[in-house]
Amino acid sequence: MAKSLESEHPIKAYGYAARDSSGVLSPLTFSRRATGEKDVRFKVLYCGICHTDLHFVKNEWGISTFPAIPGHEIVGMVTEVGSKVDNFKVGDKVGVGCLVGSCRSCQSCANDLENYCPKQILTYGSPYYDGTFTYGGYSDHMVANEHFVLRWPENLPLDSGSPLLCAGITTYSPLRHFGLDKPGLKVGVVGLGGLGHVAVKFAKAFGAEVTVFSTTPAKKQEALDGLKADHFIVSKDPEQMKSVAGSLDGIIDTVSATHPIAPLLSVLKPSGKLVLVGIPQKPLELSAFSLIMGRKIITGSAMGGMKETQEMLDFAAEHGITADIELIPIDYVNTAMERVFKSDVRYRFVIDVANSLKTA
Ligand SMILES: [Zn+2]
Ligand SMILES: [Zn+2]
Repeated sequence: MAKSLESEHPIKAYGYAARDSSGVLSPLTFSRRATGEKDVRFKVLYCGICHTDLHFVKNEWGISTFPAIPGHEIVGMVTEVGSKVDNFKVGDKVGVGCLVGSCRSCQSCANDLENYCPKQILTYGSPYYDGTFTYGGYSDHMVANEHFVLRWPENLPLDSGSPLLCAGITTYSPLRHFGLDKPGLKVGVVGLGGLGHVAVKFAKAFGAEVTVFSTTPAKKQEALDGLKADHFIVSKDPEQMKSVAGSLDGIIDTVSATHPIAPLLSVLKPSGKLVLVGIPQKPLELSAFSLIMGRKIITGSAMGGMKETQEMLDFAAEHGITADIELIPIDYVNTAMERVFKSDVRYRFVIDVANSLKTA
């Protein structure tokens, strides 16, 4: 018989879990493994709420396991390190993002692209090496192999920096990989949510001229004044779209609702790149013509490897980049999830875990 969640590991843990696909989160006592020789154990201080957390607790992708403890934008302070941990000591500030494991030997892993390892282990809802499931950062503490733990830069805020661990790297990585990180390039960002608003900040820091595309005209002022984007286009207005036809070097499309792709291809220069980082439920609809005329490229990108995630955090610290957040106590999490569903947040909820999670 399988051991209960409370006794499958020796260390007692406490968090907020969804018991079923209603997605309603409530307190749960569970357990975490003892600190292995390469493990770092840390007290969770802050954890961002990613849209993926909502998809997962509601089992919208059909891959969820319950109870589900989400959270993969986790920042904390080290409380214990294993005997063979090289890079961390008690008291260090650290982060854990979307990944806690990978095979460490495939071509992707050898190239610091653990995010594309076929055996990657996600921070929550994945079977770990010992056969037990992983649980995320809506909890009092975490334990992870040091390879998957990030060093937290000294001057990067812990709360507003936490969303960089998913939203940040998910947009930083494609800007870098697809060469959209050069001064003077014209870069578009589609969708002004958790990912989009951070994408604007990174693209600006790289020196790009940034155009925000949104279906919501009311976001114009926030985009231009708050986020310092250079231009704002209402993407459902054909006249406005025509005014920027053929002008952009690349676009980061963060929208996960089904939306038309052809108009976005039309605003790219020849050889321009449309990079998808949101995951709409329906397959894309596009004509070959829209790609052939101007040999345009449509591609995608997921998260980033550990080396690049560290580089992104260091870059963010250097350039003063954080997410715009609403800090909440953990007992607000169900309301927050409803508001995430309605896109009613500017732009990321971060849970003040250490100050609001009361251990049973
Ligand atoms: Zn995420
Ligand atoms: Zn691998």
